[in-house]
Amino acid sequence: MFTLRSSCGPWEANCFLVGAADSDECVLVDVGMDASAAAERLIAESGRTLVAVLATHGHLDHVADAHAVADAHGVPVWIHGADRHLLSDPAAGLGPQMGSLVEALYGSATLPEPAQVREWSDGERLDLAGLSWGVIHAPGHTPGSVLLHAGDEVSSQLFTGDVLFAGSIGRTDLPGGSMERMLQTLRETVVTLPYELQVLPGHGGATSIGRECATNPYIRLALKELSS
Ligand SMILES: [Zn+2]
Ligand SMILES: [Zn+2]
Repeated sequence: MFTLRSSCGPWEANCFLVGAADSDECVLVDVGMDASAAAERLIAESGRTLVAVLATHGHLDHVADAHAVADAHGVPVWIHGADRHLLSDPAAGLGPQMGSLVEALYGSATLPEPAQVREWSDGERLDLAGLSWGVIHAPGHTPGSVLLHAGDEVSSQLFTGDVLFAGSIGRTDLPGGSMERMLQTLRETVVTLPYELQVLPGHGGATSIGRECATNPYIRLALKELSS
C-alpha cells in the first residue's frame, strides 16, 4: 500500500492519499478545512490520478473541502447516508452556535453538496485505486461514522476517522453523538479486528488495534461494561 498524510485546518484533521503500491490511481480519505491545497499537493507528489474522495464521517474538519477537490477532478464523494446532510449543513453536526462560525469562514451557513455523492452501506466492499475497501459502520461519534479497511494481499490499514484515536476516542457530545453507541462500536466492532492491523486515525498519529485494546481506557471501559 502507498499512503501519504497531511494534517489540515484549525483542528489538524488528517487528510490521507491512498492507493495500491503498483496502481497509478489514488483516493483521498477526509478532505476537510483548508485541505484543498494540501490535497492537490499530495496528488501531484504521488503522480497518480484521483478516482474518489472518501469521508470517514460528515464533520466539517473532515469534509469541508471535499466538494471542491472532488468536483475539480470529476470524482464522487463517498459518505454514509446518516451523515450525508452534514456535507451541506455543517452546523447540524456541530451545534447551532457553530452556524455563525461556518458563515464567517465560508460566507454562508450552508456549503454546496459535491456534484457526485455516493452513499455506502455497512459491510459494503469497493475496489478503488487497486485496493479492496471494506466499509464498517461505526456509530457513536456521529450516526454515519465508518471505519474504512483498505488493503491488498500484502498489507492493510484501517482509517478510523474520529471513532478511534491513539489512546482516546472521538467526542460523543456533539449532535447525533452517543457514548452508549460508541461503547457498543468499540465492544462489538473494534475489538474484533485483527490485533496487528495498523490504525490511521482522523487526528494524530498511527497506532494499532492491538495497542489500543491493551491501553485505550475507553476500550477497557467498553469491555468492563460487558463483564459486569
Ligand atoms: Zn468528527
Ligand atoms: Zn475530527
